[in-house]
Amino acid sequence: MIDFSFTDEQNLFRESVREWLAKNLPIEKVRENDEKHKIPKDIIKGLGDLDLLCMTLPEEHGGAGADWVTTAIAAEELGYADISVAIPVFFLVQASWGYVVDEYCTDVVRDICLRKAAKGESFIGIGVTEPGGGSDVAGFKTMLKKEKDGWLINGEKTYISGTEECKEMGGGYFVSGFSDKSQGHRGMTAFYMPINAPGVEVTKRFENMGRMAISTGGFKMTNVHIPDEYQLGETGRGFYLTMEGFDAARVLVSSSCIGAAQRALELGIEYIKERRAFEQPLAKFQGIQFDLAEMAAEHEAIKSLIYRTAWMLDKKYKEGTFTALECSKYISMCKLLAPHHALDVLKRTMLWFGAYGYSKECPLEMGLRGIMSYCIGAEGASNIQKIVISRETLGRDWTRTR
Ligand SMILES: Cc1cc2nc3c(=O)[nH]c(=O)nc-3n(C[C@H](O)[C@H](O)[C@H](O)COP(=O)(O)OP(=O)(O)OC[C@H]3O[C@@H](n4cnc5c(N)ncnc54)[C@H](O)[C@@H]3O)c2cc1C
Repeated sequence: MIDFSFTDEQNLFRESVREWLAKNLPIEKVRENDEKHKIPKDIIKGLGDLDLLCMTLPEEHGGAGADWVTTAIAAEELGYADISVAIPVFFLVQASWGYVVDEYCTDVVRDICLRKAAKGESFIGIGVTEPGGGSDVAGFKTMLKKEKDGWLINGEKTYISGTEECKEMGGGYFVSGFSDKSQGHRGMTAFYMPINAPGVEVTKRFENMGRMAISTGGFKMTNVHIPDEYQLGETGRGFYLTMEGFDAARVLVSSSCIGAAQRALELGIEYIKERRAFEQPLAKFQGIQFDLAEMAAEHEAIKSLIYRTAWMLDKKYKEGTFTALECSKYISMCKLLAPHHALDVLKRTMLWFGAYGYSKECPLEMGLRGIMSYCIGAEGASNIQKIVISRETLGRDWTRTR
């Protein structure tokens, strides 16, 4: 049976989130956040009050017990409201990585971080990328050494979203490093790294080109003692937990990109219906209509793929009807296509606006700058998605043995 409709509950949820965002996060406010380089506290509190923060966590752990389709709706609406994607980033790292941390953590970590993060009173993020590179996870240098009652950690993470917010609000990061380098990716172990742990030094805030309201920084870990209670999952499973987190995050990234693209399309359509040239609205020119048709067709195709993939994630987690590997190909397709589609829509609609589109009076440039972060690599570079898609399409065994 195929049913492409959202449930009544999901439609109501979308409406209520959109209504709240329209009131509390109009585009002028997004511009202000972009200029002030800060997400206002009242927005974070509001997202917490709406049960959007860490909404994927079970209710008994402080979340809303939301499924992935509903969470993708929230990500889309946040991308629609904040096309700079700063607030979507704040939301989605916690909904995805918070979920994976919750799946594998002890109650100690839930109590010191996750329950508070769900209320907007702390932050949970992802610390994977290292100065030597982000794509080659198995080539990381962060090392774990076993101690009597925990682990000693040394290493450095960089280009990490939300380091300043985390420092300010409290909380920490999902981090993975080698507990046994000789085992390759099977020798990685994941843990929760509190940002304020002794030996953790938050490094500089990068001057990014976009998504200015959320910080991107890094942290060094020098002889940091992590108690056993902070370990996530079994020893040697860190690589797999990292991939699980990426899977969840990439669906939500894609969804927020489709939200930003939707907003750009709507702004553009409104404009071409009004703006006149050669005695008629721009929308009457076939050259403009063909542009719109191409974007609208691509938009619907990618949006369907994203919700189908979120649905697969729900099936995987709730019913076990899809494996992680079956989901990964579709997830990578979403992450490959959605950011580039959003960038393309932002660029092409910006052209419709003429000179106005190039100015900061027009919101589109914030979108262009922000979405570029996802084209470049946040939550995984495009070529890495292509590697996953081609490997799963050609067949794993074939790829491995030839
Ligand atoms: C704004 C922003 C926020 C970020 N936030 C976070 C965060 O919160 N946490 C976190 O851990 N990381 C974060 N990142 C880092 C992000 O995950 C990395 O940028 C990404 O994984 C790519 O790593 P890299 O930048 O080191 O590029 P590299 O891995 O050095 O890759 C450089 C280029 O080479 C290509 N490439 C690499 N390997 C191959 C291959 N085998 N075949 C073909 N091409 C290849 C890549 O596609 C890329 O184009 C963020 C990045 C940005 C820009």
